[in-house]
Amino acid sequence: MFVAMRRAAKGGAPNCPKCGSVDCYRCKSRRIFKCKACTAQFSATSGTIFASRKLSYQDTLAAIAVFTNGAKGHSALQMSRDLDVQYRTAFVLQLKLREAMTSEVANATLSGTVEIDGAYFGGHIKPANYKEDRKDRRLSENQTGKRKCVVVMRQRGGRTLTVVGKSELQAVPTIMERVAAGTVIHADEAASWDSLHDHYEMRRINHSVCYSDGQACTNGAESFFSRLRRAEIGTHHSIRKAYLDGYAAEMAWREDHRRESNGVQFIGIAKSAMQSPVSRQWKGYWPRHLPK
Ligand SMILES: [Zn+2]
Repeated sequence: MFVAMRRAAKGGAPNCPKCGSVDCYRCKSRRIFKCKACTAQFSATSGTIFASRKLSYQDTLAAIAVFTNGAKGHSALQMSRDLDVQYRTAFVLQLKLREAMTSEVANATLSGTVEIDGAYFGGHIKPANYKEDRKDRRLSENQTGKRKCVVVMRQRGGRTLTVVGKSELQAVPTIMERVAAGTVIHADEAASWDSLHDHYEMRRINHSVCYSDGQACTNGAESFFSRLRRAEIGTHHSIRKAYLDGYAAEMAWREDHRRESNGVQFIGIAKSAMQSPVSRQWKGYWPRHLPK
């Protein structure tokens, strides 16, 4: 299965990750190939996001299947118990799968009708025990600085893109880059989106009055946040800001593929992983401090 997926990704042949030659022997005793040109040995997963894996092929497939089936994601702790591997192994494997899912929309641009919205995640401040010790958690001087804003761009009948920053305003350049000119953008009344009026046809909705007035509506974007919020609270319990963009992209993928059967989703994730190169960010990554 891995060889077939690799061949599909590389245009029909198991080419050598070292010299690129398609002329390769298949080793009879072990599941590896040997390049005729440069004699390098490689496996079906060399040069992909699964490079240097220690899990067997079966366990890797099981991990993808288990990961696929979580509608709101799958926690690394649960996966480590499902597969009987270390927590960190499951955690890093999930980071890589999220990167593969992101690669599907790496060069995507949106057009037609696009809904945009932002929401804040992380940086929870625990209220003090006694009421008189509690601080106003809305004030910036009392915040942890760990709060991040996820902005979503969601094309109706199309793909969902996410960007993580400090505020909604920070996402505006990315929106201009990834949403084509001539697009109709639906957004709420937040002042962050005012500058977009110069570039796009805008429809604004005031959420303190209604959620849809027949002209403007951002319920598609809200639906994405609903899934991400449930993943945060219900599955992962908290998400570190360093990993937030991966979780956001994962939930965008799950929103876009939600109507597909889990078999189709499984093949989709596995193929994206086999088509993704060795992860620059997560190759050899080992979380020194366990994510809280
Ligand atoms: Zn070679």
